[in-house]
Amino acid sequence: MNCYIHIPFCDSICFYCDFCRVVSSKKNQYLDALELEIKTHGVHDIDTLYFGGGTPSSLSIDQLTRLCSFFKPYLNNSYEWTIECNPDSLDLEKIKLFKEMGVNRISLGVQTFDNTLLKQIGRRHSAQDVFRCIKELRQEGIENISIDLIYGLPNQTINQLNSDLSMFLQLDLPHISIYSLQIEENSVFGKKNVQPIDEELEEQMYDLICQRLSEYNHYEISSFCKEGKHSMHNLCYWSDNDFIGFGCGASGKENNVRYDHVFNINEYINNPLAKTWIEESREEQMFDAIMMSLRTSFGLDIDKFNKKYQTDFYSRYENVIKKYISFFDCTKKRIVCTQKGRDILNTILIDFME
Ligand code: SF4
Repeated sequence: MNCYIHIPFCDSICFYCDFCRVVSSKKNQYLDALELEIKTHGVHDIDTLYFGGGTPSSLSIDQLTRLCSFFKPYLNNSYEWTIECNPDSLDLEKIKLFKEMGVNRISLGVQTFDNTLLKQIGRRHSAQDVFRCIKELRQEGIENISIDLIYGLPNQTINQLNSDLSMFLQLDLPHISIYSLQIEENSVFGKKNVQPIDEELEEQMYDLICQRLSEYNHYEISSFCKEGKHSMHNLCYWSDNDFIGFGCGASGKENNVRYDHVFNINEYINNPLAKTWIEESREEQMFDAIMMSLRTSFGLDIDKFNKKYQTDFYSRYENVIKKYISFFDCTKKRIVCTQKGRDILNTILIDFME
């Protein structure tokens, strides 16, 4: 089984962020509620486990020990266990704990290596904190490290992005997720009416990223990895598989039906078992499966899709496939978007939707 656990606490709020996160002192109460939810649902035979946030590393060593202990007994033989960490709250003691518990992948929220830009987006760490974390993780034997970077930050130049990419390459890490800045209405930037960067510059930046990371496997629109170092957990989202979501603000999918937990931490603490199941038509489920899988270099598994939705993909979507045939690599078993296809994926998806 694949599990996502949401830890909604952050030590401060970054200016671009509107995720489900709070600066709160209710961490122990939250863990009580989470424990109730996990025990009531039950876990077994874990393939992938992902602690996301918020900032899981903002929990104390005792709280992390408690949380990790829920899952340790249920890991299968080839599991992937990722914890999202911020460089300012990850220290050697926590890294040693993760290693002992069996955590084998860390996703570090770096965003940029430029200390001035880091301050301007409200991050608490510096590039030096990132270097320390990577050194300590490697020293303790956790080599499977991914970093998140953001491009298109206010006033960021193409040269600054280029330096970020050079630093990533110099660090020789196995995975990177790199996203363009979105100005969300409820973020500090949104409220201050900060404007997104020019579209043309954003495109130039994306082209630069693809060019500089060409030695990496560009296996999803925003994700690049070394051979075999894909995020197995994220692949389960992109491959239309079930996953269980625990915690406030977490979403899940069980027996192909999606659900959401409440966003409000107090409501979650009062009733951690409440979920809102999302009714989706078969058409909507099929569209979701197509949308997610075409983001990746693996594409859509035709047999799996046909069996699951009792349909014939190629005849059902014949018109869309014909219209965009030069943007796809099609075989009997898979349909994959070419790089050009991924560049216009939103346009292609509108036709799939219709
Ligand atoms: S970006 Fe991450 S660390 Fe910053 S406020 Fe959002 S969830 Fe918290």
